[in-house]
Amino acid sequence: MANRPTRDTSRLLMDQSVPGRVGVVLPESDVPFQQLPDGSLLRAELDLPEVSEPEVVNYFTALSQLNFSIDTNFYPLGSCTMKYNPKINDEVAFLPGFAGIHPLQPAEQSQGALELLYRLQGFLGEITGLNAVSLATLAGAHGEFAGMLMIRAYHLAKGDTARRKVAIPDSAHGTNPASAAMAGFEVVELASDENGNVDMEALQEVAGPDLAGVMITLPSTLGLFDTNIVDVCAVVHEAGGLVYGDGANMNALLGRVKLGELGFDVAHLNLHKTFSTPHGGGGPGAGPVCVGDTLAPFLPAPVVVSDIPGNNGGTDDNTTYALAEPENTIGKMSGFHGNFGVLVRAYTYIRTLGADGMREISGNAVLNANYVMQGLKDAYHLPYDRTCMHEAVFSADWQKSRGVSGLEIAKRLLDYGFHSPTLYFPMIVPEALMIEPTESETLETLDSFIQAMRDIDREVTENPDLVRHAPHTTPVSRLDEATAARQPDLRWKRQTS
Ligand SMILES: *Cc1c(COP(=O)(O)O)cnc(C)c1O
Repeated sequence: MANRPTRDTSRLLMDQSVPGRVGVVLPESDVPFQQLPDGSLLRAELDLPEVSEPEVVNYFTALSQLNFSIDTNFYPLGSCTMKYNPKINDEVAFLPGFAGIHPLQPAEQSQGALELLYRLQGFLGEITGLNAVSLATLAGAHGEFAGMLMIRAYHLAKGDTARRKVAIPDSAHGTNPASAAMAGFEVVELASDENGNVDMEALQEVAGPDLAGVMITLPSTLGLFDTNIVDVCAVVHEAGGLVYGDGANMNALLGRVKLGELGFDVAHLNLHKTFSTPHGGGGPGAGPVCVGDTLAPFLPAPVVVSDIPGNNGGTDDNTTYALAEPENTIGKMSGFHGNFGVLVRAYTYIRTLGADGMREISGNAVLNANYVMQGLKDAYHLPYDRTCMHEAVFSADWQKSRGVSGLEIAKRLLDYGFHSPTLYFPMIVPEALMIEPTESETLETLDSFIQAMRDIDREVTENPDLVRHAPHTTPVSRLDEATAARQPDLRWKRQTS
């Protein structure tokens, strides 16, 4: 690492404690002295590290730099859209009027915040072509779940109890079948055809009176625009079902394609992907759901309404905003009105870039992904050799046949200073390496990434052990990622020996 800290960060702060060393100066006490309570109420050992202020700053700053982040490294984690998050978004979200507002404050004291939410609903409706929007859902998967509950409520409201199945392509993100199953549906897997589109024959087979709907990701998790999509929507509608759009990949379509115009009835957006919010550590996020007229009455509560409908905010100072419950709402999906800070960031992002900027995002995202695809396709197997959208999905099976796996290639990339692409997903591609460069990377970064991938491919032949045992330059090497996520060890404990 270029920036090696002076002090040993492998030693916990507690273990650097030196008796009598202090890092703070407490002010003179201005309250009367009190006796400590009875000794039985006190802990015998209350361990606090005795360290100086520079030691504390040095320690935590060094720790913060041990990991990869979008602010320090290229982060082509496919499907996650780890793009640059403009700092102005944070500055606006931190404005006292936004950061300090309480969700239970009455509407008359929250007009500014409500207006922002109202306008954001309008923008997202415009972007998706699905004009009714609820911002209350807190993640992509949460939006999917809300969408499934709405589809269920829609059929039941018509007295149609036979529609128990939801069909989902085999390339789908794992949250899709999980959300459908949680909403009580039976999940039917839809095959992809040899081009990576939905197989129309397979769809025809499930399109019957028991089909509640399909969930389609557009572009798909293969990074491909399904050229049958209009027909897919028509077949499902013909059979009486509804079409759910997983809009996590909206980065590819912004300003060019509206899901509503293609035939989708409902879609979620991942604001923390397409509309830029720092994410990756598990939140916070926002996954608003956007619907057309059919499902508008079922939206989760609350939605923001204005007394001058259609006024997309700001043109008239006398407009007032309020929270409302859609007529047949599926109910609340979260405590209040969604993750407000993330919504402010998305609003700022959209306003900063404007309509032309939105369109440039998708243009550059798609251009960058195709550039990487072309730069690597002779070295890495490209199972679906078509123009891609915002991400390119390779297989490392050529390398695997030389004894090195996709995982090991991903680990070796860390030595070159790059975060790994998404691995082993989508599941229909063996040894999948799903690369999403995003629009915010420069040509120079893309070139050096392509060079690194090509160098690693050469190492696989010339020195496979170098790749097999990577990474070699990171503070820690191979981690037990499942245990680290499920049973994180975050707290210092006194060694008992
Ligand atoms: C990220 C993602 C999701 C889930 O979104 P979360 O916000 O992580 O719940 C669903 N589908 C696709 C295609 C995604 O990339």
